Amino acid sequence: MSVFDAAAFRQQFPFFREQPTWIYLDNAATTHKPQVVIDSLVKFYQHDNSNVHRGTHQLSQQATSQFEEARRTVQQFINAAEPAEIVFTSGTTAAFNQLAFGLMHTILQAGDRILISALEHHANIVPWQLHCQQHGVIIDVIPLTVDRQLDQAAYQTLLERKPKIVSLTQVSNALGNVLPLAQMLSDAKAAGAMTIVDGAQGIAWQRPDVQKLPADFYCFSAHKLYGPTGIGVLYGKRAFLERLIPLHGGGEMIEHVSFSGSRFNSLPARLEAGTPHIAGAQGLAQAIKFISGFDAQQINSYKGLLLKAFHNGLQHIPGIQLLSSRHDNAGIVTLNIQGEHPADVAALLNEQHIAVRAGSHCAMPLFEQLAAPGALRFAFAPYNQLTEVEQCLAALAQAVEILT
Ligand code: PLP
Repeated sequence: MSVFDAAAFRQQFPFFREQPTWIYLDNAATTHKPQVVIDSLVKFYQHDNSNVHRGTHQLSQQATSQFEEARRTVQQFINAAEPAEIVFTSGTTAAFNQLAFGLMHTILQAGDRILISALEHHANIVPWQLHCQQHGVIIDVIPLTVDRQLDQAAYQTLLERKPKIVSLTQVSNALGNVLPLAQMLSDAKAAGAMTIVDGAQGIAWQRPDVQKLPADFYCFSAHKLYGPTGIGVLYGKRAFLERLIPLHGGGEMIEHVSFSGSRFNSLPARLEAGTPHIAGAQGLAQAIKFISGFDAQQINSYKGLLLKAFHNGLQHIPGIQLLSSRHDNAGIVTLNIQGEHPADVAALLNEQHIAVRAGSHCAMPLFEQLAAPGALRFAFAPYNQLTEVEQCLAALAQAVEILT
């Protein structure tokens, strides 16, 4: 079997030619875009620009067919049963807001419980909170063990409370943990819960097969999978999508409107009010085609090599407090330097053109539990190189010397 050609992969990304001095390790926040994705956006606006679903003219029909073709590309990528199960949103956050609003009015009643985990991003916490208090719905949280893994025994106990919904991330954006999702979701289904997966980080780690994974909903953002910002996906099994009350009303999502009331359109239009991100959908489809040209297992092994080299190097730097897991990690290293604020270290790395993230990574409750003010996050992508890992380790060692 051929090995992953990291140099050829990197070459597809013009950013690294344009900005050769930067080492970009903020990939959990957003990834760079390959030329094919950039070209597809330019092509749409330059040659094909038109609105979808509403014109009789050829340009609109062409834009519509490209848009719907993009939906089919997403469908095939995650193996959804039909294109109508793919709802375009502006991203993972928008998908969760739709879910929290839409389920609160149908599935969830006062006294019901939702189960999430201590590792969740704010996008899988706050949308629930916006409605839970008002509707008397209770949020339970799976705690962490001392080694910062999800406490599976506590999970089993919490399932005995019969949550209506279990909503979990596939990969922690803060600690890199890959959750044992197949098992956890099938336990949730056995307990009678509806299941939701936050795939924002997971989509770039392991392409889901949503017909095999016991997930009723799966959400992700294109921009973490080498696609454009402003476009994402809410996947749901038809029977479950049908039960969502639309969060947004307006054009496209209706079949008939009168001043006495409106009848909604069928899926997926019912959940896609207004003009969608037409170019973005095509950019996402191009990103999917691009990444499908590489072997995911080879990519993950390569990221494993980068991670191993980084972990090995960290052992020689004094004062490192590693928060992320060394094992079952999707490529995210989170750490602190004893006695130093993560923002100060990030600022020193920035001076050397090393882009990392410092803070609580949209997971404030997690960092409260860890009793840490935040952390530095190094998130690796397949376009990163071993030489960059070495440079980053050297810069980190230098930062420690300056600060301590
Ligand atoms: N969930 C996780 C695990 C994330 O990492 C992110 C983004 O960082 C989100 C949700 C929110 O994604 P977006 O900002 O694209 O809506």
